[in-house]
Amino acid sequence: MQHSENSLLARVLISGRGKTKREVDFNHNIKIFTEDDIKRITSNYRTPIGKGGFGEVYRGILDDDCVAVKRYIRGDTVDEFREEVNIHGQMNQKNVVKLIGYCAGEDTLTMVTEYISNGNLDDTLHNSAIPIPLDTRLGIDIGCAEALRYMHSMHLSSENLVCHGDIKPANLLLDYNLTAKVSDFGLSRLLSGGITRYTRMSYPKDTIYSFGAVLLELLTRKKVKEGIIEALRKANAKRKRLRELFDAEIANESNAKILEDIAVLATECLSLDIYTHPQMNEVVDRLCKL
Ligand code: ATP
Repeated sequence: MQHSENSLLARVLISGRGKTKREVDFNHNIKIFTEDDIKRITSNYRTPIGKGGFGEVYRGILDDDCVAVKRYIRGDTVDEFREEVNIHGQMNQKNVVKLIGYCAGEDTLTMVTEYISNGNLDDTLHNSAIPIPLDTRLGIDIGCAEALRYMHSMHLSSENLVCHGDIKPANLLLDYNLTAKVSDFGLSRLLSGGITRYTRMSYPKDTIYSFGAVLLELLTRKKVKEGIIEALRKANAKRKRLRELFDAEIANESNAKILEDIAVLATECLSLDIYTHPQMNEVVDRLCKL
């Protein structure tokens, strides 16, 4: 593969490095591809595997391994792309989709990541009839929570913290044994100001609230809307009728205690009072104990 340090993104990254508080050291293991490389990897974009608001995703082959290649479809996203690559490139955790490389060509911005074979959690929950036992759901909860705990503990510099910004089932990919992998750092941002400001900002609310919605979606196997969150809050306050909310497939007597404990945790994460949110450390501990 040819490394094109002249690419637009490389110039932006290099020229910016070390100049502002928001810049972080770039991971040099990340490969830089040319547009021709990307065409070869994807056999000229032959196999589409997904589409989102920002890009089309294709399957490709790189060094005999399957990879996912995301081609950005909006023309005005160089800065967002730069930030996404910059942040994603720092991540090294088993529940985060691994970034392999990128291409910032004249015509296209493209990202190459490891291929995650079982699609996203949203499709699995709502567009398939595949049974999902409670321990698998709990494993997905824990995987996602561990990825978020990892991100929250990343001090890329003494001043910066990472925020994913878009935690939802569509951005949780599932591998061959249904382990969760957080993907799509398109809305992730570095928050300048470090831990002191972090505690005062809306960031924990956004991330932990969104994580609470994922917990609830896995409990109910229903799309989470305000109505269902309200029903959870009310049921939880009275400590009854919680069971009616749960997906019938997992709502049996032997699971009752675990389901209730997850529902209580989800309610805390979904609190509108951000100061009562549990931190991700605590969330992981509580889920692991279940
Ligand atoms: P959004 O509108 O949520 O921002 P997006 O444009 O950023 O979406 P992605 O969410 O990154 O696009 O990807 C769209 C879909 O492509 C995913 O839901 C998933 O089904 C598929 N996909 C993305 N990355 C991978 C991957 N690494 N392995 C397998 N499939 C993937």
